[in-house]
Amino acid sequence: MNVIIVGAGIGGLVSALCLHKKGFKVEIYEQVGILSELGAGVQLSPNATKVLNYLDLFEDLKPHIFEPNSFKFLNYLSGKVISERKLGEAIKNDFNSPNYDIHRADLQRVLLNKIEAENIDIHTSMKVTNVGNNKNSAFIEVEEKKIEADLIIGADGIHSKVSDSLFGKKEIIFTGNVAWRMLIPVDLLPKNLILPDTTVWLGPNKHFVTYHVNGGKNLNCVCLVEQDGWLNESWSEKGDIEELKRIYKGWNKTIVTLLEHVDPNTLYRWALHDRPPMKQWSKGRILVLGDAAHPMLPFLAQGAAMAIEDGAVLANCIDNFDDIDEALNQFEKIRKPRTSYVQSAARRNAKVLHLSGLAAILRNLVMGYVGNKIFNKLYSYDALSIVNKNHNN
Ligand SMILES: Cc1cc2nc3c(=O)[nH]c(=O)nc-3n(C[C@H](O)[C@H](O)[C@H](O)COP(=O)(O)OP(=O)(O)OC[C@H]3O[C@@H](n4cnc5c(N)ncnc54)[C@H](O)[C@@H]3O)c2cc1C
Repeated sequence: MNVIIVGAGIGGLVSALCLHKKGFKVEIYEQVGILSELGAGVQLSPNATKVLNYLDLFEDLKPHIFEPNSFKFLNYLSGKVISERKLGEAIKNDFNSPNYDIHRADLQRVLLNKIEAENIDIHTSMKVTNVGNNKNSAFIEVEEKKIEADLIIGADGIHSKVSDSLFGKKEIIFTGNVAWRMLIPVDLLPKNLILPDTTVWLGPNKHFVTYHVNGGKNLNCVCLVEQDGWLNESWSEKGDIEELKRIYKGWNKTIVTLLEHVDPNTLYRWALHDRPPMKQWSKGRILVLGDAAHPMLPFLAQGAAMAIEDGAVLANCIDNFDDIDEALNQFEKIRKPRTSYVQSAARRNAKVLHLSGLAAILRNLVMGYVGNKIFNKLYSYDALSIVNKNHNN
């Protein structure tokens, strides 16, 4: 069987490697010419690193990752710990796999190097303009040519052309939140300002996330702020540091100091959009996965992890079921409950993390218990064995 994947983001590359490992012939079509350095940090929780380990990527990832000691929710004024979850060795013991923080571009580079090492064909600067089904195959249209395959996977992100071609254009809704992100070289920061932890500072109507990337060289800071009147979704729109300083005026000294150290040229912002869940992810021999199927808001840091899980589950479904229709049905059956749980938990977090007053005090009281319950559910998922388990039951 030969498979065409549209999109060389995290979902497309992991799917290609997992399918290749099972012995299927895979080709990738990506619209951009060179790898984008855009984007910021990605948190790879144990449910995602399990798959990356299966693909033998840990050695290649090593220079780029950072393993935080713990995950902490902090009060935006006092800096007091609201709740803490140990990571490092503790997370490995609990879930048999580590938690890594990494820059998206580093992760994409490592995956691309592996794609090249495995001689998987990747065609860059090739924008897919349409897809369609034949009787027992499917095709993509690219540069006015039709290219056929037994299966086509749309891993082409939230604005998926593949999904639009199959199911029509969907409405995308502004969430009322804007994400700001920046990288700060750790060497420039006062000593001991930042501990080797992932921190999430919670305040009314906004929060501030920090963790190390690029092997610990840079601190990745992401601000999620309720803001109206600006809707640009682009990953490459520059932000204004003076505006961001105004937004975080009066916050804890650590946050104010961090913003003092930002190189304004590294500051980007994008408006966060959401899309209603899709009833169907496949038609005939064409399937969508990752953000193309279930775009994730960043309030649980699981967007990349869900795309990675998708890749592993899909390869196992295709390997386990001789009939392709059955394989695609099984994929949707297994992945829909999981991804819709994560989508709705992330949507809920957009409100819960930004509470104020009495509601925030009550939230803080249960944060540790509820947070751990959600983390356990997310991290214990094993995308590598779930198909076999379902198949045998
Ligand atoms: C440039 C960029 C920067 C990002 N930065 C962040 C970030 O800082 N933090 C964060 O949480 N998430 C970020 N994301 C999103 C995050 O990567 C995804 O939410 C998650 O990894 C799921 O990935 P995905 O593979 O499903 O989709 P994406 O990562 O969106 O990948 C989709 C890929 O498909 C390609 N593509 C789209 N349309 C076509 C077409 N018609 N033909 C061929 N190729 C096509 C795109 O160029 C892209 O490479 C970023 C995505 C991109 C594209």
